[in-house]
Amino acid sequence: SRMPDGVAREAVIDVAAIEHNVRHLKALIGTEVIAVVKADGYGHGAERSARAALRGGADRIAVADIPEALALRAAGVDAPLLAWLHAPNTSFGEAAAANLELGVSSLDQLQAAAAASNGRPVGIHLKVETGLGRNGIAPAEYGTVFAEAARLEAAGLVEVIGVFSHLSNTTPDDDRAALSRFTVAVAGAESAGLRPRLRHIAASHAAIDMPAARLNCVRLGVSIYGLSPFADRSSADLGLRPAMTLRGAVAAVRRVPAGHGVSYGYLHRTASESTLALISLGYADGVPRAASGGGPVSIDGRTFLVAGRIAMDQFVVDVGDANVAVGDEAVLFGDPATGVPSASAWADAAGTINYEIVTRIGPRVPRREV
Ligand code: PLP
Repeated sequence: SRMPDGVAREAVIDVAAIEHNVRHLKALIGTEVIAVVKADGYGHGAERSARAALRGGADRIAVADIPEALALRAAGVDAPLLAWLHAPNTSFGEAAAANLELGVSSLDQLQAAAAASNGRPVGIHLKVETGLGRNGIAPAEYGTVFAEAARLEAAGLVEVIGVFSHLSNTTPDDDRAALSRFTVAVAGAESAGLRPRLRHIAASHAAIDMPAARLNCVRLGVSIYGLSPFADRSSADLGLRPAMTLRGAVAAVRRVPAGHGVSYGYLHRTASESTLALISLGYADGVPRAASGGGPVSIDGRTFLVAGRIAMDQFVVDVGDANVAVGDEAVLFGDPATGVPSASAWADAAGTINYEIVTRIGPRVPRREV
């Protein structure tokens, strides 16, 4: 097929796929669902992803930091909205005024949340450390922090909505050990007099693969965008539909003789007389340079590999004797059920994970919602 005239590149975002994925996952998992739309919805657009997830039945939305959450509020997303990773010494006034829920990882953050209360309690989720080695209240601090949370809740300054943690997805044993530490933390919170309604530790991987970790709520990121968190299972294996299709226009076509070098460093030379197609996407757009020579590209139903180095704004595909014309569509990745490469194939070619492939698609690539 052809690219629309005047369009060099675009990421087509299928919001119905996000809605489908959330509905499918929620039915499979059977708990409340927090849809994670941090990092601009893993590159898909935070607002459209949040709205699609809510249509699919998500119960709340989460992002990493408060500016991301405030941007969603400013866009009119009024669902329950959680932010959990805070800049040092953030004062939570703006967050409280926007009715955000705050992840609280320390006594300082707990007190700052209470201080931001202005007539109504600030909703918080206590983040506990269960072995990932990142943030969260350490086991030695559980007693102090839970007691202070109970005191501040009784004073009407905070409302402890949830307790949560995050898994390493290393081995099933590691995750089981973290889950049992989490159970201890929740019991500690309850014996301090807290009644957190939500307990959430599983992200996509454990939510799908470890029923014991589902508890009564899960946080789903990569899977709502239709991508598999598993190396050995595809989107289709999980009943998911990838929501992002990245495509570029064939910007130029050139017939060259055998032995012609291609792109910086001539990592590729034509084996015989051949046609080179230039595609208007480069590492500035988030196409990983590490996939030079290996990233798959589908043109007119055939899949070729990137020839030579991926440059800042463009790369070349050696299409041999295929009949390719300026303006043809070149699909880097999308839903493999439609015959195009997957984001995971690009991840393999670049030595990374599908999360990074979609999340790094840059601001120069227009998102077109369908
Ligand atoms: N919860 C936390 C704390 C996270 O940092 C993330 C993303 O990295 C998620 C949930 C969502 O994870 P996933 O995209 O694997 O579902």
